[in-house]
Amino acid sequence: MSTAREIHLVAYPDGAPTPDIFALRERELPAPGPGQAEVEVLSYSVDPYMRGRMRPDVKSYIPPFALDEPLDGGAVVRVVRSEAEGVEPGDVMVGMGGAGWRDRAVVEARAFQKVDARSVPASAYLGALGMPGLTAWAGLTQVIEPKAGDTLYVSGAAGAVGSLVCQLGKARGLTVLGSAGGPEKRAFLTDELGVDHAFDYREHDAGSLANAILAEVDGVDGYFENVGGMQLEALLSCMNVYGRIAVCGMIAQYNDTRPAPGPSNLTQIIGRQLRMQGFIVSTYQAKMGEFLSEVMPLVASGKVVTRETVYEGVGAGPEAFIGLFRGANTGKAVVRVAG
Ligand code: NDP
Repeated sequence: MSTAREIHLVAYPDGAPTPDIFALRERELPAPGPGQAEVEVLSYSVDPYMRGRMRPDVKSYIPPFALDEPLDGGAVVRVVRSEAEGVEPGDVMVGMGGAGWRDRAVVEARAFQKVDARSVPASAYLGALGMPGLTAWAGLTQVIEPKAGDTLYVSGAAGAVGSLVCQLGKARGLTVLGSAGGPEKRAFLTDELGVDHAFDYREHDAGSLANAILAEVDGVDGYFENVGGMQLEALLSCMNVYGRIAVCGMIAQYNDTRPAPGPSNLTQIIGRQLRMQGFIVSTYQAKMGEFLSEVMPLVASGKVVTRETVYEGVGAGPEAFIGLFRGANTGKAVVRVAG
């Protein structure tokens, strides 16, 4: 019999998540049954959407995490024992079904896909080649639908989703503007991702950010929104007529304990004839093949930068997750559990 070490959620956060809402616990695993595999976890993902699953009172597209149960999310695993047809010990697989936030699990093998972990690092399937990558690609190509000569603005541009949006935008010949917190991330945007103009949003209020953007470009055609709040207000005053805003996330508001005021200039949507559309990555699951055919060669050849912030050991999940809301990560935040 094998033992798993798992991170359990023991209380829902009130505001920003804190270490005391998590506990590392051990559990004996059952033997795998038909269609199941026992796996060791190589890496697991921490993502901002998980904060939404810690609000049991809010109806969402995904159910809340239960207390005193292991948290879950994306994980890259290696098969140890298998009772599933076509799945062999040593296979590396990625999936979101019961292997996140732990070091070992018995999973339904059909919830996981085998991946090629030789030409790219396995953890890339948690980032640029996984859920955040599809999010970036879908929001840009299916929601913003950029045209030649467009100017694109990306908030949260140094993170997992934003860093790929910036690079896919540059690959399409767009003028790309990005924002992130602090001078190091600003340099990362211009020096490593090739962003044309980078902004440290912490230096601005909505008015001064809008002025800084309009000092560099005449206006913005596509806005990939990861953050919300002040930046949404700034960008509403920068959009060109017929501009498109893809609302991917609003992390600035995820820890709010009371409703935040909306942007004061929402009426700009009318005169500028803007389209503002929220989207959820799972809607675009059927486009996975199209996404991978573009992004896999870029990742495998190193043509896109896939920076990771790696936290070591199964117990590092809480620190990694809390860090998302403090800007501790550049690129994808990943917890490495085994070699
Ligand atoms: P990131 O890798 O971008 O990590 C989060 C980053 O958000 C931090 O590094 C920090 O960067 C920034 N941040 C945190 N708090 C604030 C704040 N108060 N104001 C401004 N920036 C802040 O995460 P992901 O790339 O995984 O996700 C990016 C966004 O996309 C999130 O909003 C997420 O919820 C959303 N998302 C949506 C999906 C969908 O289907 N719609 C799917 C996946 C992600 P900095 O140092 O720059 O502040």
